[in-house]
Amino acid sequence: MIIAIDGPAASGKGTIARRLARELGFAYLDTGALYRAVALRLLRSSAAPDGANAAHAAAAVRPAADLADPALRDEAVAGLASRLGAMAEVRAALLAFQRDFASRPPAGAAGAVLDGRDIGTVVCPDADIKLFVTASLEERVRRRVSELAAEGRPAEAATIRADLEARDARDRARSVAPLRQADDAYLLDTTNLDIDSAFAAAKALVSRHRT
Ligand code: C5P
Repeated sequence: MIIAIDGPAASGKGTIARRLARELGFAYLDTGALYRAVALRLLRSSAAPDGANAAHAAAAVRPAADLADPALRDEAVAGLASRLGAMAEVRAALLAFQRDFASRPPAGAAGAVLDGRDIGTVVCPDADIKLFVTASLEERVRRRVSELAAEGRPAEAATIRADLEARDARDRARSVAPLRQADDAYLLDTTNLDIDSAFAAAKALVSRHRT
């Protein structure tokens, strides 16, 4: 069973996806971390972020090792990830791993939950359940600021707001695999929901679908 969860940055989709996977005993893949891992490899190699170097970095990503790096969470890494995510060659290099994870989840899990921008539209168009998780920009900024503060990395709301806006606009406007709600995805707006209520709403949609 495959659950596809897409949505803009800081919408709550990652937390919902992780909790759903834990609850159902499914494997979980944060596909944004793959794009971030490509960005981090490029940043560390100091290679110019052009198509050839980006494709090379994408092909070199080793999820088992690369996805645990705390530096993946930096907003600068996310910004570059979003620029690289607009490159068809980068997306192509990451596609097989994502599809393979979904169809043959590790450790023999009975299903997989993947979150990202194009899971329901491109990576797993035949997913059993698709959710599109959104929240207002104000709320997403508030969440990201308090998340960073909790990690001891205080950030200006105005800076975070500009970063999220730029990233979302780029993710929605790109010609390859843009961020959009799949026609058969449930829309879950978490603007006025705390994380427990958002998770409960997602779980209810999944249970309704499974029965
Ligand atoms: O989800 P996260 O914010 O970690 O993703 C970082 C960036 O990676 C996004 O802004 C987006 O440009 C890119 N991405 C993507 N497709 C995905 C997941 C992430 O293009 N499936």
